Amino acid sequence: MESMAHYDVIVAGVGAMGAATCYELARRGTRVLGLEQFDIPHHLGSSTGFSRMIRMAYYEHPDYVPLLRRAYELWDDLESASGQKLLHITGGLYMGPPDGGVVSGSLASARQHGLPHELLDRSQIAERFPQFQLPGDWAALYEPRAGFLLPEKVIAAYADLALHAGAEIHGREPVLDWQAGAKGITVRTPRGEYAASHLVFTGGAWTSSLLRDLGIELKVTRQVMGWVWPREPERFSLGHFPVWAIDNPAGGLDYGFPLHPENPGLKIAHHAPGQPADPNNVIRDPLPADEQTFRPALRQYLPTADGPLLSLRTCLYTNSPDHHFIIDRHPRHERVTIACGFSGHGFKFASVVGEVLADLATSGKTELPIGFLGLRRFLG
Ligand SMILES: Cc1cc2nc3c(=O)[nH]c(=O)nc-3n(C[C@H](O)[C@H](O)[C@H](O)COP(=O)(O)OP(=O)(O)OC[C@H]3O[C@@H](n4cnc5c(N)ncnc54)[C@H](O)[C@@H]3O)c2cc1C
Repeated sequence: MESMAHYDVIVAGVGAMGAATCYELARRGTRVLGLEQFDIPHHLGSSTGFSRMIRMAYYEHPDYVPLLRRAYELWDDLESASGQKLLHITGGLYMGPPDGGVVSGSLASARQHGLPHELLDRSQIAERFPQFQLPGDWAALYEPRAGFLLPEKVIAAYADLALHAGAEIHGREPVLDWQAGAKGITVRTPRGEYAASHLVFTGGAWTSSLLRDLGIELKVTRQVMGWVWPREPERFSLGHFPVWAIDNPAGGLDYGFPLHPENPGLKIAHHAPGQPADPNNVIRDPLPADEQTFRPALRQYLPTADGPLLSLRTCLYTNSPDHHFIIDRHPRHERVTIACGFSGHGFKFASVVGEVLADLATSGKTELPIGFLGLRRFLG
């Protein structure tokens, strides 16, 4: 035990949430060790695919909006600290039946929190965004502050800044086992054992194998993203085309991004839990049928973008039972904090989740309003 390296906090999993947490802890002067089973960054988890949408008029629930306000501030800080462009503001257009979850939910968040927005009817959408072909009775909410983040670059920037601020981060070193006691925690990896005062789990799709006794079902699903080349590319370029989402009457949501050189082509995907998957044994190579997850929506709603396929990639969702995040102390171990179940919409929050987890790990509490994301809602 004497020879074991000791840290204030160990962060298990250095993906989006873990990298942000390592940075937040290191810049506060906390002695932190980040352990990642793969490379940093990598394409085997939930944070791959070159772009992640960020928006504030949150149709999922208005309670997320205060966290998003803080997330935007912290994304600005990250850009300043790293000297890199990591967030593109493009405006966001959320379309569907006026009483559908996407338009009415976004409107509820925008009104409750006084967010800048415009409600557009079908003819206004056609005039301003002629790229879309929509049913006559649809509406849209336009939000000027929406845009997209560059996920791989964000993770690399957080890890780099954390290391420069004094964090220790080990890639290719999986956490095999952990134990929590009254005096501290120990973590075992193939390279050795480490001790710490606190442990933060940010294991994404692998959370259930690290937290076997949590008693909450986290369903991992295989998701597909596609890139196509539109017929009139200038109409889809950055600066001329927003990030967008369509409330698909057949279920789920179709969404996409403007053209961006990070990966060539117009990115589109379908947001709804895909095929259940084991993260250690998932078919990561795209299959020909994967194109059908987004091609019908492209044909129907964005006909001039219905061009040749450039790329297909896969990624993993970790779905909580109610599709809301889980951020809390472990119910039986007060020295253990958990952040998981981001259910396909967590990346935009990574900056603020890093701050929240650093607060919880160092002081046991946070000023940020995360009560609605607690484990109590499942455990009674
Ligand atoms: C196709 C797709 C599109 C998405 N689009 C959006 C979007 O537009 N906007 C948005 O906000 N969100 C979006 N999301 C969701 C968002 O990307 C995720 O919520 C977010 O990336 C989750 O971050 P994470 O840190 O939990 O997971 P990850 O970034 O996967 O990190 C978890 C890390 O833990 C590591 N790990 C696990 N177990 C161990 C272990 N035992 N030892 C060491 N390391 C371990 C993993 O290797 C991994 O690096 C999307 C997700 C997908 C899949």
